[in-house]
Amino acid sequence: MSEKGKEKKKEYLVITSGKMWQPYNWYVGEYWTKFFDGFKEKKFLGIKCSKCGTVYALPRQVCGRCFVKMDEWVELGPEGVIGAFTVVKFPYIDPNTGEIIKPLPFTVAAVRLDGADSAIWHYVNELDESKIKVGRRVRIVWQDERKGNIHDIKYFEFID
Ligand SMILES: [Zn+2]
Repeated sequence: MSEKGKEKKKEYLVITSGKMWQPYNWYVGEYWTKFFDGFKEKKFLGIKCSKCGTVYALPRQVCGRCFVKMDEWVELGPEGVIGAFTVVKFPYIDPNTGEIIKPLPFTVAAVRLDGADSAIWHYVNELDESKIKVGRRVRIVWQDERKGNIHDIKYFEFID
């Protein structure tokens, strides 16, 4: 056999990186559907336990203390108080997009809305750590156009 015949055919595996966009939707359930529908009307709804009176800022069907089903909806805020915060300065992957969070830095805080017994984490439009204090009052700033998701809240801003 000639030298030429001994040559094996080579296959090359080409690896490229790129982006694929696969839009999808999912059902968030009865409670979160009602919760996010409230956002379209700039209403932040919580749910109250009929047994112990605890008001949850993010709705859930069953009270974590009493284990009873809850169905008493209450409107919360639009103001609240900061319970904790952090100014994020190091990049990490956004689970919603798979990309590095930009731009840095940004501030997130646990905000207990008036009328609620629990807090939600969301953006605050202040980067100066010396100006952000636990106990400061904030209010919701809504997007001009709301679609019924968590991004309908643009951020919280200080009111005191
Ligand atoms: Zn309860």
